[in-house]
Amino acid sequence: MNIHEYQAKQLLKGYGLPVAAGVPVLKAEDAEAAARQLPGPLWVVKSQIHAGGRGKGRFKELGADAKGGVRLAKSVDEVIANVGEMLGNTLVTKQTGPAGKQVNRLYIEDGADIARELYLSILVDRSVGRVAFVVSTEGGMDIEQVAHDTPEKIVTVAIDPDKGVTGREIGVLNSALKLEGDAARDSVSLFPALYKAFVEKDMSLLEVNPLIVMKDGRLRVLDAKVSFDNNASFRHPELEELRDITEEDDKEIEASKHDLAYVALDGNIGCMVNGAGLAMATMDIIKLYGAEPANFLDVGGGANKEKVTAAFKIITADPAVEGILVNIFGGIMKCDVIAEGVVAAVKEVGLKVPLVVRLEGTNVEFGKKILRESGLNVIPADDLDDAAKKIVSAVKN
Ligand code: ADP
Ligand code: MG
Repeated sequence: MNIHEYQAKQLLKGYGLPVAAGVPVLKAEDAEAAARQLPGPLWVVKSQIHAGGRGKGRFKELGADAKGGVRLAKSVDEVIANVGEMLGNTLVTKQTGPAGKQVNRLYIEDGADIARELYLSILVDRSVGRVAFVVSTEGGMDIEQVAHDTPEKIVTVAIDPDKGVTGREIGVLNSALKLEGDAARDSVSLFPALYKAFVEKDMSLLEVNPLIVMKDGRLRVLDAKVSFDNNASFRHPELEELRDITEEDDKEIEASKHDLAYVALDGNIGCMVNGAGLAMATMDIIKLYGAEPANFLDVGGGANKEKVTAAFKIITADPAVEGILVNIFGGIMKCDVIAEGVVAAVKEVGLKVPLVVRLEGTNVEFGKKILRESGLNVIPADDLDDAAKKIVSAVKN
């Protein structure tokens, strides 16, 4: 689960971290009161969407020379004007895709006097099985670009879970970020507090880009992106209210109701597969034959007819889907159950695109018989390779 920047900052403030004063705004008429709560002389109006790159983003409805999704304002009037221009419009950034995201919330924040912009994130580093800090002096910009062009400017520091963040790690991080004086003193509490928030709230990512050194030498968390590990959400009922489902994909919300592992993607071939490994292999082979998957969908090992029907409905409801590939290995799950689910779903929602089905494993002959006798226009496939070729050529023709 992702949350907005202003929510992340509220959470971090609770851990004693230095964030600017700010007020979220959902309606244009609240802009003036929000701006007057802050001292000035510099305000920042920040689009709240679950995507980064807002500063360099562009609003679809405004001209190409209009300002981006993070704007500086030098007076209350300027804040009001910017809020009027931004709220309700669609922001397109590197991370939103070309469709962009509608900006329904803004955050009015106290402007900071920035001396340096640094990069800091905390994540689970699977290669060492530990939580790690990833830092760079090259903050505020596209960290992927830095990782690509100058990987030596990115430093990773793994944390021993028994010891937490000790003086040793703080020293390494300080020197990697070239922190001195007040900033180096601030970091002694800042790094452990970020780590504490990450661990206690079961985050999967905490990204501060930028962490800034201000002109007065002090540190401040200027941007904050937080993702929580959904597997731990049962431990955090307090986080549920931070969820903004308008930011989530409708299809993903529906899938989660049926306990389906589903991720919407950009391609045009809908996939229904059992097992995450097979789902990944199916996506790979679709790409190998020159097309793109519209989704990742793992119906799981114990899927029943209802689950298969729900999955099929989610796929067919996606207007981007121009063909469907069902690739099932019947182990615990039997092929005839899948076949029945597919037939039931097609009868219910209809089938307007080519459908290739590849079944293998338990009761495979029985499953194929059900499909044959259903009278549905199913293209049968013998193996994964055959299935991928058939669906790609069906979609291309
Ligand atoms: P994004 O990463 O989505 O573009 P940021 O919050 O990182 O959004 O803001 C982009 C840039 O805007 C920052 O790198 C910084 O230069 C500037 N900025 C953001 N918030 C403030 C602030 N409170 N005061 C001054 N400048 C800011
Ligand atoms: Mg940022």
